[in-house]
Amino acid sequence: MAEDVRVRFCPSPTGNPHVGMLRTALFNWAFARHCGGTFVFRIEDTDAERDSEQSYQALLTALRWAGLDWDEGPEVGGPYGPYRQSERMEIYRDVADRLLAGGQAYRCYCSTAELDQRREQAKAEHRAPGYDGHCRQLTEVQQADYQAEGRVPVLRMRMPDGELRWHDLVRGELSFDAAHVPDYVIVRGNGDPLYTLVNPVDDALMRITHVLRGEDLLSSTPRQLVMYDALAEIGVGDGTTPAFGHLPYVMGEGNRKLSKRDPESHLAMYRDHGYLPEGLVNYLALLGWSIGGDREFFSLAEMAEAFELDRVNPNPARFDLKKCRAINGDWIRALAPADLATRMVPFLQRDGALPEQPTDRQRALVIAATPLVQERIETLDQATGMLGFLLVSDADLAMDPQDREKLLVGSAEVLTAAIDALHTLTEWTTTAIEAGLRASLIDGLGLKPRQAFGAVRVAITGRRVSPPLFESMELLGRESSLTRLQSARQLAE
Ligand code: GLU
Ligand code: ZN
Repeated sequence: MAEDVRVRFCPSPTGNPHVGMLRTALFNWAFARHCGGTFVFRIEDTDAERDSEQSYQALLTALRWAGLDWDEGPEVGGPYGPYRQSERMEIYRDVADRLLAGGQAYRCYCSTAELDQRREQAKAEHRAPGYDGHCRQLTEVQQADYQAEGRVPVLRMRMPDGELRWHDLVRGELSFDAAHVPDYVIVRGNGDPLYTLVNPVDDALMRITHVLRGEDLLSSTPRQLVMYDALAEIGVGDGTTPAFGHLPYVMGEGNRKLSKRDPESHLAMYRDHGYLPEGLVNYLALLGWSIGGDREFFSLAEMAEAFELDRVNPNPARFDLKKCRAINGDWIRALAPADLATRMVPFLQRDGALPEQPTDRQRALVIAATPLVQERIETLDQATGMLGFLLVSDADLAMDPQDREKLLVGSAEVLTAAIDALHTLTEWTTTAIEAGLRASLIDGLGLKPRQAFGAVRVAITGRRVSPPLFESMELLGRESSLTRLQSARQLAE
């Protein structure tokens, strides 16, 4: 690379971090890591009404959870800080003054009522409805008169005529007729600088070389290109304009854009349901990018190694929760059992299957049982349903009422035979348990395996879906297994 790549992720801390945000962060991060560049994390918190500290903290937590590290930004610092825009207001004030003095921006005194009225008129006359340039050439005297009337001006950018083009890193050649992009507001009447100003100012000052962001921001690019030229003229930044690439839309159900209102768009949902960060970022990487071939399972490190922008697909990407779950399941199976056990523990604790301080025996049980559930769960929050039976006392075993109704009632004979067979076993191992139960229930009573073991499974685990039965009984131990079978037999009668 001739230049040092510098990219940024610059969310506004409003609401809950969502999937689209993390996808944008991920692609920027991967591009930076691939190029040996710098990943800048900037917080665009200039809207005091909407921004919140809670949302800011949630963003940091989400990025860390996902495994994305940043080279410059909050809590890390860096040579172009501060990285929270709320701490950079002086800078924006100064740049705005210089744009006004340089003529790139001008004061607009039009009231909202006047703007509305002229917009309606333009519509009626089939003219473009945007700002009409009314205040572009006000004289000193006119301005003084407006001031005297008590009008408070906003600051507007002067858009050039002609065409604005750029080579989009994802979408190729794009052009906008600048005549259709009206002069836009960069500072409010009360002095608050807007996104239209602060975002390109910081990109220039922080020497951002590549802007990778969602396609929803495509329409702001022509305006920002003009802003970069203006900033170059007044000496803000090094005079270069970053390259732009617009990442495809993420579509939800029914061919609509995934919206913040969709529950599956909230990152917190994934953590709560026990998605692995590895699984979620792997899935998000597939939303508009491919590593090549049909390959769909890869790590962050592999993504970074392979990440080229020419593999970013401009077509909308469909968010498919089922597929996301499936990939998460693949990740669960790829973990070392000890690692998986450690990750399941907080979910077991949350659901009350394990106490705050698990005993050694409980810990050992979880570790021993992990290989049994590893093939059977797609998210960590399924661990409790699968393993809870091993961790509760025999008296506290909860039984699924439907399973009890279907599989226990009327099974007294089966359960009695199972108890008798198990009593006589000389050793309590998976193989011995299986052999004993098969001999007595299948060969002895002539039952089908489903009938025979369904009742035993519900008796032992409380439900019809469980880890493998004989292994589970070995782990549970002879005494508990027999106690549970006996209580079940009472229910079955
Ligand atoms: N703060 C802006 C947003 O969250 C950043 C947009 C951009 O990447 O330019 O939408
Ligand atoms: Zn005006």
